[in-house]
Amino acid sequence: MDRCFVLCDSNIVLKADGSLPEFSEFEKIKTDNPLLEYFEEKNTGIKVLGLSSAEKLDASYKVIPMREFFAENDDETIRFQMFRAKSLLNWRVSAKFCQFCGQKLDEHPLLTARICPSCKNVFFPRIEPCIIVLVTKGEKILLARHTQRNQDIYACIAGFIEAGESAEHAVAREIFEETGLRVKNIQYRGSQSWPFPAQLMLGFTAEYESGDIVLQKEELSDAQWFDRNNCPASPKPGSIAYQLIHGEI
Ligand SMILES: [Zn+2]
Repeated sequence: MDRCFVLCDSNIVLKADGSLPEFSEFEKIKTDNPLLEYFEEKNTGIKVLGLSSAEKLDASYKVIPMREFFAENDDETIRFQMFRAKSLLNWRVSAKFCQFCGQKLDEHPLLTARICPSCKNVFFPRIEPCIIVLVTKGEKILLARHTQRNQDIYACIAGFIEAGESAEHAVAREIFEETGLRVKNIQYRGSQSWPFPAQLMLGFTAEYESGDIVLQKEELSDAQWFDRNNCPASPKPGSIAYQLIHGEI
């Protein structure tokens, strides 16, 4: 089913009743608001209008964080289409020139990619793999408050996979760097696209092995062992962090 997405920063524009806008509304929306990019993709059924500002929408629309829309919609197809739209929008506005020779890139005639008209290198949408891990110690789980993001909630340990690492290596390294703990029995649980701007979250669980919590102050403001049934404010339903914390995966 074709769906139309109007996106601005990390937000989605909806009609006042909470439904997605129709394609016929795009013309007026982009006339009133500064256009960043328009594109469509036939095989995934998305039509995407990216705005650089959504200040001139009339009262028949509302703007909400995409994370909120994601949490409130458990339809996997809509979730995929929205994150596909957001991923491609981020990539299209940031990857316009060849990394080798600086030429402006052309659309690839066959692939979801861009090609350099001069040196013929092909560039694909960017995906940055990250790990996110729930550490358990008996019945307790380790949750942390981050200094750079979502400071109002306790969440799982997470971080980017570095060059040359396996995902499991990144899990052990991130936990040790951020909390000083060693873990064992690292198990893959599932993955989730998280295009803010380009993450692919690979979810794991791991068991505490040794050590006392020593915070990496640049990354974490707090980390504690909690009862799974008595957690502080934590990530929203639908996110892989929520699924890990609540034992859904
Ligand atoms: Zn080039």
